[in-house]
Amino acid sequence: MTTPVRLLRAGIDMGGTGTRLILLEGLREVAGLTLPTASFEALPKTQRSGELVNRLQQLCPADGQIVSLGIGASGPVNNRSGVIENDDTLACFSFFPLLDEMQQRLNVPAAIDNDAVVAALGEYHAGAGVGSKRMLMVTLGTGIGVALLDNGHPFRTADDRHPEAGHIPVSGNGQRCYCGVTGCWEQEASRSWLQEALRQVMPALDWPQLTVEVLKEKSATEPRIAALLHEYGERVGRGLSTLLTLYGPDLTVLSGSAAALLPLFSHGLDAALQRAPGYRLPENIMSSSLGDVAGALGAALLPTIRLPHP
Ligand SMILES: [Zn+2]
Repeated sequence: MTTPVRLLRAGIDMGGTGTRLILLEGLREVAGLTLPTASFEALPKTQRSGELVNRLQQLCPADGQIVSLGIGASGPVNNRSGVIENDDTLACFSFFPLLDEMQQRLNVPAAIDNDAVVAALGEYHAGAGVGSKRMLMVTLGTGIGVALLDNGHPFRTADDRHPEAGHIPVSGNGQRCYCGVTGCWEQEASRSWLQEALRQVMPALDWPQLTVEVLKEKSATEPRIAALLHEYGERVGRGLSTLLTLYGPDLTVLSGSAAALLPLFSHGLDAALQRAPGYRLPENIMSSSLGDVAGALGAALLPTIRLPHP
């Protein structure tokens, strides 16, 4: 008797720092791997899609079969051509037909989208966003990613692009961002900003080791850290208040490595979101329940749930 083949959906979440690969059976992760994105820069462009396919095939169990591929990529992705257009933070996978090459090698349906969109889809289908009618997701990581899902459908611009809502002006006197905006939200409130600001107060800071408990302890004894966390909440709130005013979501999910610190900066966030009666903003804001895996998981779901191209 032959063993039934397990049908697996592959997902890849490409960020400036790490590239995460995942295989899903249903909604369950059966295998996963995170590689430094920089490790692909050492390869010629012509070998990068092949290397990703090899890695997926190595992850696939002997009784498994990859039946689809979804990719989420940091920064602009051309939704019509499927080409990543992000020379600023994802140059090694940009401006060549990565998706087409991988699709040909694997011979399965494939789809690609912005990483904020796939992370939002992951939370919507398997995490904090289940049942939400209009879900806003904000990723506080190296940069700021934003996605809005209306009954699970990603909001697009008129020319079918993902609006880069992490790049909205929130300050008149900040530094100039690579996107061209001065006082851009991403420069003012990403995890990178918080990390650098904390490093100046705690020079020995080791960010990957930093937990909510450790930081809570330190902020109780060091007023500068408590003040910094309050300021961070206000900075996040400056951009978020604009998005909440415009879109009125029933749920806002914060993700990225700074989201776990929400209990420590929520007072600053609440202060920035205060409005007069009649102008109140939606208050249902929570941290991601899937954490770092949301992007790869949502990417794996992409080929089966994605809206067709216009
Ligand atoms: Zn910007």
